[in-house]
Amino acid sequence: MKFKPVVALVGRPNVGKSTLFNRLTRSRAALVADYSGLTRDRHYGEGRVGDYPFLVIDTGGFEPVAKTGILKEMARQTEQAIAESDVVIFLVDARAGINAHDHEIAHMLRRAGPKVVLAVNKAEGMNAGQASAEFHELGLGTPHPISSAHGDGVVDLIEEALSQLENPYIQSVSAEPETEVPEPDLELEESELEEQEETVFTDHRIKLAIVGRPNVGKSTLINTLMGEERVIAFDMPGTTRDAIEIDFERNGKKYTLIDTAGLRKRGKVFESVEKFSVIKTLQAIEASNVVLLLLDAQSEISDQDAHIAGFILESGRALVVAINKWDGLDADKREWIQREFERKLRFLTFAKMHTISALKGQGVNALLKSVNEAHAAAFIKLSTPKLTRELHAAVEQQQPPRKGIFRPKMRYAHQGGQNPPLIIVHGNALDTVPESYRRYLESRMRKVFNLSGTPLRIEFKSSH
Ligand code: GDP
Ligand code: GDP
Repeated sequence: MKFKPVVALVGRPNVGKSTLFNRLTRSRAALVADYSGLTRDRHYGEGRVGDYPFLVIDTGGFEPVAKTGILKEMARQTEQAIAESDVVIFLVDARAGINAHDHEIAHMLRRAGPKVVLAVNKAEGMNAGQASAEFHELGLGTPHPISSAHGDGVVDLIEEALSQLENPYIQSVSAEPETEVPEPDLELEESELEEQEETVFTDHRIKLAIVGRPNVGKSTLINTLMGEERVIAFDMPGTTRDAIEIDFERNGKKYTLIDTAGLRKRGKVFESVEKFSVIKTLQAIEASNVVLLLLDAQSEISDQDAHIAGFILESGRALVVAINKWDGLDADKREWIQREFERKLRFLTFAKMHTISALKGQGVNALLKSVNEAHAAAFIKLSTPKLTRELHAAVEQQQPPRKGIFRPKMRYAHQGGQNPPLIIVHGNALDTVPESYRRYLESRMRKVFNLSGTPLRIEFKSSH
């Protein structure tokens, strides 16, 4: 299996990296807009241009510019970008022209030799040749004029960047086909309707990502889950985009663990790369069905924990939370700490929270039970008649509000996807349905179908 490719944005301050980042990841950012605090300082995210998903790093955001000076900081960030990405987009500013910092970064890129696409930003309203002319001298190939602010040239730029990857990545990814589901004949007997549905459910292995910041106990938990022999597996060589997967079985259930950084030795590209890699974490989340977020009971919830939680939320993956190192706590502190963690992570309402000791193996079986449940919920198959019946019951109890002369009419619902389950509600004037009503439906459906451990998405589709 391949991870999604990682595109890093590099360039000196003010060339427009965060503007481009926001444009590339916008639709996803909107998903978490409700959870204030999480979207701030997002420098890693999933982008999608057409059918091609990829991960984006905005290197400008790793850390505030250190006292050591901007050049050093830029160098560090560029190194990190080179080490963690598959292709680098190097941004320069068409209006400001080349400056010494651009030369410095260009030099580093030429020396390290990653795949690079040169983007000349802020080129809106400029003649393309004129905008890019002077940047040829950076020696990094054809300059691509773009406007991050207006979007001009951005799709071409991404296609150019992704086409640099040797793997026929673009062909292997296809967006989920949008199947038009014909309106069911609700006069039919339910049993007849059920037959029209596809009822295959494959009980596949659970792809599990164990994520968390350094030292929360990920390796310890993995040791406990798998026994000692696994360690060797992590030292396998691999390219950045090969997911490292390790199969294990426990209580008769099959799992595949997806590696995150820090669980295996990294390549020797740059020593500066830390044990913990947000990008690897993000990739593992994307490649998994269920995420196990590990937290440390013996320290406060940090920004890094919150960021990781934010990625998980955006990804739509099923989730179980484990507060580790519970063994080392005084009994009188436990209740307070559990409440504190629950309060801080209340935006992860759908996830079960466990307290465990990875070291002593306490709570691990119960934890895996929740993983199994979350997986089952994420892959639930809901028939159109069942969904439609529940939809009608929900509407009967509470009508969607009237907007002007329109009263939204909800006619039927069908399932449009899994992991997370997606329920598509069909009807008329549904574009006027407020968010609060969508949430009402969501929480009701969640309860009725017992969907613990997975997000649930509800979309509306109006016929007119
Ligand atoms: P960063 O420091 O590289 O992340 O740069 P920012 O994304 O913060 O952008 C720096 C400034 O350039 C901001 O004032 C942006 O509004 C502006 N900017 C970014 N992209 C464009 C563009 O395509 N055209 C123009 N005219 N301005 C832009
Ligand atoms: P990772 O960086 O997330 O892989 O964390 P490690 O598994 O390397 O663990 C970091 C440290 O926490 C090590 O010293 C472990 O022995 C310790 N540790 C891990 N799990 C537990 C636990 O359940 N209880 C206690 N008391 N210590 C733990």
